[in-house]
Amino acid sequence: MDYRDTPEEAGFRADLRQWLADHIPAGWDKIEDEQEAVALRKGWHRTLYQAGYVGLSWPVEYGGRGLSPVYDAILNEESGNLNAPPLPSVGYIGRAIFTYASEEQKQRFLPPLLSGDTQWCQGFSEPEAGSDLASLRTSARLDGDHYVVNGQKMWTSGGQYADWCLLLARTDPDVPKHKGISAFLVSVKEPGVTVRPIVIASGEAETAEVFWDDVRIPVHQRLGAPGEGWRIAMTTVSYERGPADIGFIAAYRRTLRKVEHLAAERGLLEQPEWRKKLARAYVQGEVLRLNCMEQLSSRVSGRPPGPEGSVAKLLWADAEQSLQHLAMDILGADELTGSAEGWLSSYFTSRPVSVYGGSAQIQKNIIARMLDLPR
Ligand SMILES: Cc1cc2nc3c(=O)[nH]c(=O)nc-3n(C[C@H](O)[C@H](O)[C@H](O)COP(=O)(O)OP(=O)(O)OC[C@H]3O[C@@H](n4cnc5c(N)ncnc54)[C@H](O)[C@@H]3O)c2cc1C
Repeated sequence: MDYRDTPEEAGFRADLRQWLADHIPAGWDKIEDEQEAVALRKGWHRTLYQAGYVGLSWPVEYGGRGLSPVYDAILNEESGNLNAPPLPSVGYIGRAIFTYASEEQKQRFLPPLLSGDTQWCQGFSEPEAGSDLASLRTSARLDGDHYVVNGQKMWTSGGQYADWCLLLARTDPDVPKHKGISAFLVSVKEPGVTVRPIVIASGEAETAEVFWDDVRIPVHQRLGAPGEGWRIAMTTVSYERGPADIGFIAAYRRTLRKVEHLAAERGLLEQPEWRKKLARAYVQGEVLRLNCMEQLSSRVSGRPPGPEGSVAKLLWADAEQSLQHLAMDILGADELTGSAEGWLSSYFTSRPVSVYGGSAQIQKNIIARMLDLPR
């Protein structure tokens, strides 16, 4: 694949840059109040959608623009370069719906998901089923034209702000565990759903426990066939794993420049030991960028993401965590005394990157399986 912009792509990029410069809300990254930050993210989703920048590569009939995935990459890259608020993550849940939903479900769920009128969360993990997701216990019992759901989900990111959930539940306890799971599209506003936010180490309540007590879901809101839940879950996480967006690289480079600045302020740039650490951080960013490009190339040739996402997920987590660790090393006690505000929070935000979307150890297991390595 030729990674240079075609004339059309270059024109799109130039218009987008101008649009971003005109519309990025000033001071958005200084907002500390959580409710305000959530409102800003929702508002940014709608602003982008109204300008035609959400769902660039989605089919036109479901609210997208039917363009090549290259345009998504340009949007990601320029958003990262210009320090725009985070892009809405409609991708992985949307892709699951897009791949497995009936035509009626697509018409109902995809347009409001793209426009930001409905917010979604992913209800897969449970207290006893994270890495071993197939052991999940939340049950969905068929009762006439409804399923009755009971159980507890854990780490449901954004659960407290979501309207809808892509939920996995066991519909058949009598078959091998991977085969007895089904997926559902369910409103978290239904009676019987209780959401309890979880505050993580960064101090933010970005995820939640969700309790499901006798929640009734109409049969027509099952996604895919009964027992197809495992396949749907794997499709979802394959789109979730890996940066798959060049915007992460732009944000990484911005952070690296800040870390270099911290090192320069402390007179460390002339010391070989620190130069080596900074050079390593640069190389990690480049490896990640090239991996991203390779993934983009696959998407452009129409190949859906597969287990290679595990390599990307490992590289991403390692690069992000190493860079934040380097910042901590440079800052030393300054961070603890509060004279280098902001870094501790981003350090803690980087820690779960190697856990969500499947832990680093699980990604290594997947890679080992693909390479036929002994287990
Ligand atoms: C911030 C955050 C956001 C999240 N968001 C969501 C979300 O929106 N929706 C959702 O469904 N889930 C979400 N998760 C859950 C996440 O997917 C799980 O935490 C993850 O899969 C690990 O599961 P666990 O926490 O139960 O740990 P466990 O599975 O109990 O693992 C504990 C440790 O053992 C290791 N381990 C387990 N099994 C093996 C093995 N076979 N081989 C080698 N090592 C192993 C793991 O790598 C880990 O280090 C989120 C998690 C976090 C921290």
